[in-house]
Amino acid sequence: MIVFDLICQPAGHRFEGWFASSEAFAAQQQRGLVDCPHCGTTAVSKAPMAPAVPKKGNQLPTPAQPAPVAEGLPPEAQAVMDKLAKLQAEALQQSRWVGEDFAEQSRAIHYGEREAEPIHGKATLEEAKELLEEGVAIMPLPFPVVPPDQAN
Ligand SMILES: [Zn+2]
Repeated sequence: MIVFDLICQPAGHRFEGWFASSEAFAAQQQRGLVDCPHCGTTAVSKAPMAPAVPKKGNQLPTPAQPAPVAEGLPPEAQAVMDKLAKLQAEALQQSRWVGEDFAEQSRAIHYGEREAEPIHGKATLEEAKELLEEGVAIMPLPFPVVPPDQAN
């Protein structure tokens, strides 16, 4: 017995056919006795075979390629960062930039010395610590903000 990879036309179904010999296949094919098990057509021919690659006895199996090392952040983390940056940008649109006056302005709002409004600006670590100790509600921004007077 001999097995052929067969292919039908035009659907291109691939299937295997067992024959007594190559001649037996040719004879059956000519008489329309070889049909595709998928669509029943007798327009069947031998499928082109991939060339057989000779194997060397001492050839090692090809090692699996290591996954490419992601550069920077994984996409999920990058997406989260992008979202946070967008949220911050949106929040800051409602907020006034007070620059170096941040500590003073925050304190003034906290003690009711001026009208409350959302502000953001610069504070040194020391200033931030003092504000927190006084109970002034401040929050570090996750992303650096370009002061308006420095932005183009
Ligand atoms: Zn078919």
